[in-house]
Amino acid sequence: MSQLLNQLYTTRWYISKLIDDLEKGNAFDKKSGFTAEIKKELNTAVTLMEGFAPAKDTKKPLLWYPNAVIPNFRQKTKGKYKKNYPKGIIVHWIWAPQVGGKENAEFWSKWASEQGYTFFTLGNDGTVVQSFPLDEWGSHAGESYWPNIGSSVSEHFVGIEIVCEGKIQKFADGKFGNERKTDTGKITRTYVDQSQVRTINNNTDNIAKGYYQMYTPQQEEALIKLILWLKQNNPDVFNLDLVLGHDEVAGPSGLGLVNSNYKNTWRKTDPGGSLSMSMPQFRALLKDKYSKL
Ligand SMILES: [Zn+2]
Repeated sequence: MSQLLNQLYTTRWYISKLIDDLEKGNAFDKKSGFTAEIKKELNTAVTLMEGFAPAKDTKKPLLWYPNAVIPNFRQKTKGKYKKNYPKGIIVHWIWAPQVGGKENAEFWSKWASEQGYTFFTLGNDGTVVQSFPLDEWGSHAGESYWPNIGSSVSEHFVGIEIVCEGKIQKFADGKFGNERKTDTGKITRTYVDQSQVRTINNNTDNIAKGYYQMYTPQQEEALIKLILWLKQNNPDVFNLDLVLGHDEVAGPSGLGLVNSNYKNTWRKTDPGGSLSMSMPQFRALLKDKYSKL
């Protein structure tokens, strides 16, 4: 049943996308209401099947987030999780301009598929893109460590990349942003509006001092919703204590514990101050929300 439901979610996505694409042309008389009718029927079918699923039959967790946009490419995975499901997650930022909604989120998901990375991608409007099944793990955290998990955290945790500039600089002219080298070696700047800048004066918990572009409220909301669903979808395997920042597993409290090269330094600083609270506070919030579901 849950497999059927998964297939139905995917089908709904493909057909809706096909209709959207067709509607851009003149294939349909939009006034006829024909396409709206198809979409309505698809949603009815999904609702009916969700209502059908008896508890025992749905024991198998879903492999696709029902709210996700599922593109027509797949990111590379490296194997199955030991319990066919992630134990937790790692929060990241993609280190790119926080623009472009769904299309940009799909762009970065596609980029990852070409680079050999695997992760959920959250657009600036809260779109969630998923392009790998949830029982398979792939690379996203690199060299890292967490107690009782070890140094291959990607094998245990699913990655969530949020489209955001993350840690930024303050330029001499007082503006904030990042500098990047183009393919031709030219340095280009992207700017972040002052209203989106968070300043952290001292290292606090997982957050390294510096300037950050904050996640949008839609991104933070989508992140919380996704994590709560991940927990609900497989409560025996997914552990809210293992909702970690990249800066935890590849910072002083993680990698810094075991690797003298990184002792007391941050190899990674995401999510840092881009999330509106520290990771311990975030875990407490998630547990509180989960207990009230
Ligand atoms: Zn990261």
